[in-house]
Amino acid sequence: MTSQPRIYADHAASSPLRPEAAEAMREAESALNPAGQYRTGRDARRLLEESREQIAELLGADPVEVIFTASGTEADNIAVQGLAFGSRKLHPTASDIIAPGIEHPAVGESIDWLCTGPLPLGYRRVELPVDENGRVDLAKADQIGVLKNASSEQTALITCMWANNETGNIQPVSELATIATDKGVPMHVDAVQAVGRAPIDFHRLGITTLAASAHKFGGPRSTGVLLARRDAKILSPLKGGNQERGLRSGTVNVHGAVGTAAALAAAQRDMAAENERLQGIRDRVLGAVSGIEGARVWTHDPSLPSHLHLSIPGAEGDSLIMLLDAAGVDASTGSACAAGVNRASHVLAAMGVDVEVARGALRLTFGSETTMADAERIAELLPRVAEQARAAGMA
Ligand code: PLP
Repeated sequence: MTSQPRIYADHAASSPLRPEAAEAMREAESALNPAGQYRTGRDARRLLEESREQIAELLGADPVEVIFTASGTEADNIAVQGLAFGSRKLHPTASDIIAPGIEHPAVGESIDWLCTGPLPLGYRRVELPVDENGRVDLAKADQIGVLKNASSEQTALITCMWANNETGNIQPVSELATIATDKGVPMHVDAVQAVGRAPIDFHRLGITTLAASAHKFGGPRSTGVLLARRDAKILSPLKGGNQERGLRSGTVNVHGAVGTAAALAAAQRDMAAENERLQGIRDRVLGAVSGIEGARVWTHDPSLPSHLHLSIPGAEGDSLIMLLDAAGVDASTGSACAAGVNRASHVLAAMGVDVEVARGALRLTFGSETTMADAERIAELLPRVAEQARAAGMA
């Protein structure tokens, strides 16, 4: 019997390195410190600036607005904390941080640290409501006056992710950006899941900062990008050699930047066709999910076609992923995982999903090497896996 190849269905966590990125990085392997005032420094700087220009063009920004960071997490931390401090410097009364409860911990825990952390910094979290389909509910926000009193004197920043990492659901960032601009409040967008999967135009959106992470679109791991408008008032929490406009101190990872630019160019080149293909793959798996009694689907359009998030009530998410693992499929529950331990999903909680139902969560996320044959195999496996996980019961 020939064993079947494993299926990797956790692209939202990390995507394999694209060949274009691997090739570009091989060529830039010997790049040293781009700040060096000698020939090798100038060579490294040229590669870095070419990558910066390419990324700027692909994302609708100016090169000076592209800041290389060590991860999406670092980009989010610099933006959220840096904007909170920057607004406070301009307006000593600016204390509200407006955000939905579905943000990734890179944003959510930055906000918690500012609001309820070890030091009394005087910031206050103001929650943007989320509807049962996992989308920020602007009508409700209006009803309960969340955004009505936002102003540069009162509000430190608004932050909202472009697409959620668990559900893939796309958020109304454009509408929020218009509100933020009208109120004169800076806005950050965590676009880590969206960059490379959805078209992004930073200038057109009119936001202050945007975070991206290369390994989500086939670039190297531990390489991020922060887009920061020239006039953004950011007091970066990172101190050191003042590289990257003083926002991200530290020697810049040139070959990471080169790989990021190459991966992004390839992702954007293939985006339209790839999204259509992934939609077909997701539809095939969804067909199988609809045959599982009681299964609930959390991914609702508009969404990234790469993502499918669901729950099998009566089953533990951990059982589902272990059974799939044993059957040769890499998947996740979707919620943030610290040291291999899954936490209850704060995203499903914000959507009002019952804890017991949320515990049976499963996230399948697809990418460039996922095939329709993979979808067929997952579709075939899922009903049996759901039945076995239900039989194993809840822990
Ligand atoms: N923001 C979102 C929405 C994410 O999905 C992730 C990673 O899963 C991050 C931020 C953190 O990115 P990184 O892994 O580059 O630190």
